[in-house]
Amino acid sequence: LQGYVGFANLPNQVHRKSVKKGFHFTVMIVGESGLGKSTLVNTLFGTTLYPHKNDAEPSDETPATVEIQSLSADIEENGVKLRLTVVDTPGFGDFVNNEESWKPILENIEARFDAYLEQENRVNRRKMVDNRVHACIYFIAPTGHSLKPLDIEFMRRLHTKVNLIPVIAKSDTLTEDEIKQFKQRILDDIAQHKILIYQAPQYEYDDHETVAENREIISKIPFAIVGSDKEVELSDGRRVRGRKYPWGVIEVDNEEHNDFVKLRQMLIRTHMEELKEYTNDVLYENYRSEKLVTMGV
Ligand code: GDP
Ligand code: MG
Repeated sequence: LQGYVGFANLPNQVHRKSVKKGFHFTVMIVGESGLGKSTLVNTLFGTTLYPHKNDAEPSDETPATVEIQSLSADIEENGVKLRLTVVDTPGFGDFVNNEESWKPILENIEARFDAYLEQENRVNRRKMVDNRVHACIYFIAPTGHSLKPLDIEFMRRLHTKVNLIPVIAKSDTLTEDEIKQFKQRILDDIAQHKILIYQAPQYEYDDHETVAENREIISKIPFAIVGSDKEVELSDGRRVRGRKYPWGVIEVDNEEHNDFVKLRQMLIRTHMEELKEYTNDVLYENYRSEKLVTMGV
């Protein structure tokens, strides 16, 4: 089951819809350097989208602004194909003055809305390509304190444009108690600053199991995650993805150890369609109507 993603197990109805439309999912990852963004992406999708960094050759180029890098992979599972695009944003928060770190990211998201709008206005809409960002995973440094001004600013600027999914990076560096308290403080900050993070809808007609599963996923937000694309050996000889410490191994795919599995479930299995629909029906629609108003249409 290593590296197994799970989208091939989507509920039938959703599945059929998606297969017909073609799975195309775009996720953006944002957070300060070194928080494990590239590692998580490799861990999440069981595929290396990123060329591994060559430690012997550190890059001496320092870009003057946040870069936007788009990488795609086609992954296939039980005959179901998913075109996955990951938009990485290296450089975010790395500068002496990070006041406008959010700006190139917002511009990128809006440019993707514009490209979609342009296609909608064409006479022939048959070959529409949806490159809009369907989810933005925002990495919070595992300080154990509260959100930084940089985090708050980013989320406030972006929350009406993209589905924000906050995660606590490198949660293996915090104790269970610290994580619990940190999560609460983050949620308090988010509420206090009136930030909208992605809220999964609950449907009354869903069966008990689905409702319970969704509730369980939502209760873990902000997901405390651990990423590792390396396998380590447990004392019983099993090999798992994880991080090794003198006192033991933190397993990436063990729900007792961290929320990685829940994040993946939400993104790829339970909420992929929802994230796409909310992007289209609410975020994009608001953008589109505001744009039409400013253009005087
Ligand atoms: P990025 O700059 O955000 O893309 O971060 P990278 O994915 O390049 O990771 C930076 C460093 O942190 C690497 O040495 C990773 O092995 C390490 N790292 C990544 N994820 C985790 C994690 O969950 N826990 C710990 N302790 N280290 C991690
Ligand atoms: Mg990186």
